[in-house]
Amino acid sequence: MVPGEAGSVSLRDVVVDPRPGRAASVSYRLTRQQVVDAVLDGRRDRAEVCDAQPELRRVATHHASPLSEPCPICGSDDLGVVTFAFGPGLPNGGRCVTDIREMQRLRRRGRPTRGYRVEVCAACWWNHLRETFPISEGSRGRRLLG
Ligand SMILES: [Zn+2]
Repeated sequence: MVPGEAGSVSLRDVVVDPRPGRAASVSYRLTRQQVVDAVLDGRRDRAEVCDAQPELRRVATHHASPLSEPCPICGSDDLGVVTFAFGPGLPNGGRCVTDIREMQRLRRRGRPTRGYRVEVCAACWWNHLRETFPISEGSRGRRLLG
């Protein structure tokens, strides 16, 4: 899981949510494709990108939502997505959001909170950030986000 990769995102990856009061969601589809292409071309080693950390592996094993697309690296159907929430009062490594009630609780906290969706393959441990999105903008945005 690499929220820090946000610094390498190109402007073309940014998808602005047009609804008033909503902070932008950011898609990492293009950077993901660049990484996949580099592996498939042999410019990057597969081991570099199939490196899910133990905690991410654990969360993915128990809480991932399956994706309808195959793993871009190994072709397995074991590709899933997990969501982590980051913000004040949450663990440094983020909190894994496992269901809609948890998401609703995070929205009601009234503190700025951002979600990170990470895809993980349980066959080869490929992992990549798919998107980040606002869960709550804090008290100021609570009414809009309720
Ligand atoms: Zn895979």
